[in-house]
Amino acid sequence: MNDDGIKIGLETHIQLDTESKLFCGCSTDISDGPNSHTCETCLGMPGSKPRTNGKVIEYAIKASLALNCDINDMVRFSRKTYFYPDMSKNFQITQHEIPVGEDGELKTRLGNHEKKIRIKRLHIEEDPARIIHKGGDITSSDYTLIDYNRAGIPLIEIVTKPDFRTPEEARRFLQKLTKIMEYLGIYDPSSDLSIKSDANISIEGGERVEVKNITGTRGIEKALKYEITRQKNLKKRGRNIERETRAYNSSQEITRSMRQKESEAGYGYILEPDLTKLEVTEEKIEEIESDIPELPDKKRLRFMEEHGLKKEIAESLVTEKELADDFEKLVKKHDTVLTANWMTKELKKTLNYNDLTYKQADLESEWLSYIINLLEQNEITGRNAEKLVRRIVEKPEDPSVIVEKEDMLKADGSELEDIIMEVIDSNDEAVNDFKKGEEGALNFLVGQVMKKSGGKADPRESRRMIIKKIEK
Ligand SMILES: [Zn+2]
Repeated sequence: MNDDGIKIGLETHIQLDTESKLFCGCSTDISDGPNSHTCETCLGMPGSKPRTNGKVIEYAIKASLALNCDINDMVRFSRKTYFYPDMSKNFQITQHEIPVGEDGELKTRLGNHEKKIRIKRLHIEEDPARIIHKGGDITSSDYTLIDYNRAGIPLIEIVTKPDFRTPEEARRFLQKLTKIMEYLGIYDPSSDLSIKSDANISIEGGERVEVKNITGTRGIEKALKYEITRQKNLKKRGRNIERETRAYNSSQEITRSMRQKESEAGYGYILEPDLTKLEVTEEKIEEIESDIPELPDKKRLRFMEEHGLKKEIAESLVTEKELADDFEKLVKKHDTVLTANWMTKELKKTLNYNDLTYKQADLESEWLSYIINLLEQNEITGRNAEKLVRRIVEKPEDPSVIVEKEDMLKADGSELEDIIMEVIDSNDEAVNDFKKGEEGALNFLVGQVMKKSGGKADPRESRRMIIKKIEK
C-alpha cells in the first residue's frame, strides 16, 4: 500500500494517569458508577472557576521531552467553541496558540527499516463527558445517557506531520508511543485509560479526509486500510474525494461521513481568561528531564551491549519496564542466557496465554529467581517448570510452597528406580518388543514413567535407566 501518494497524519489523545482531573479536584477514578465524581467546575456551571493541576503540566513536559520536542517557556490555555451535551460549558479548554511542546520526532522501525516521524506539537486539553447511546447509535438509539465522570480528565494530544505512508507505520508509531508513555509512568495500559486517534488521510489527487475516534493501536491499522481502499475506489471510478470528517465504527470496521470539515475559524478560539499564564523555567525543565527513565530504545541497545543479548531477545525484554527491571535484578544472580530465554519464552508465553502483562501478573522477582535456580541446578524437569509458571501466573503464589506441597522436584535416584521397576514389571509386552529392537516400545515405557512420576522424572535420565535395567 505504498503507492498512490498516500499521506497520513495522526492526532492522538492519551488520557493521563493522574489522581485528579485537569481543572478541579475531582477524582479520575471512574469505577464508582456514572456521575459520582463531579463538581461545579467539571459540570461547567456558571461562575465556576478552573484551577490547573500542576501534575498534568509536568507530565506534558515529560512527554514532550521524551519525544524530542522544544518546550515553550509559557503554558497558556484557550477556549474552543464546542456546543454539544458532553461539554456542558459549551467550550473546551485546550491549548491553541502555544502548545507545551513543538517540533519533535519519534523514530519507529518496520522490519529493518527505520523511519522518523515528525511531531508537530504536543498540547494539553480536557476530555469531554462520555455519551452512551442506548439501543443503537447516534442516529437510531432510543435514548442517550451522559456520564460526567470523564469530563475534565486530562489528555495530551500529540499531532504528527503527515509522515506515514502505510497503515502499518501508523500502528508501529502508536505502539511505540504507548510504550514510551508507559515507561514515563504517565499512562497505564492496564487501566481504563484510553488512547484515541483522529487520522488525516489523503491519496494523490484527492482532498484530505479526517477519520475520527479510532481507539487503540489495533484499530488504527484497520481503520486506515478501510479508508485508503475507499478513497482508491472513488478515484478509480473517477469520483472526487472531498474534504470531510468521517467517523470510524469499530464494530463494523468502516468509516462513515459525519460532516464537511469545519474551518479553524469555526472553533472561535479565544485565550482562556480564567486561567493565568504559567512560566516554564529552564530549571523546571531540567528537573523534569532528570526524572525521565532510560527509554526502551536506549535500554535495548544497552542490554545488547552489556549482557550480550540478541536483538530480538533484548527487544522482547524491554517491551515492559517492570519485566526489564526484574531481568536486570535476576541476571545479577543467574546465568544471563538462561534467564533471558526463560523470561522471553516460557514466562511471556504463559502471560500472553492468560492475556496479562508482566505488571498485571504481580509476580515477585524472588519467585522467578527460585524457579530459575531450580532449572540451573537441574532440580526440576522442563515439564514441571512450565507447570509451575502456569500456576503462579494464574494465581500469584510463592512457587516454593507449591513445589513443597505437590512434591514437584525431580525424582532422585532411588525414587526413580522404584518407578522404573514398577513400569517394567507391569509392561511385559512392551519390554519384549523393545528387546526385539522396537524403538517405539522404549518411548512408550518412558511415557509410562513420566506419567507415574507426575512429571518429576527426567525423560532422558529415565530412558537411560530403563535401557540399563532391561539389558541387565
Ligand atoms: Zn470536578
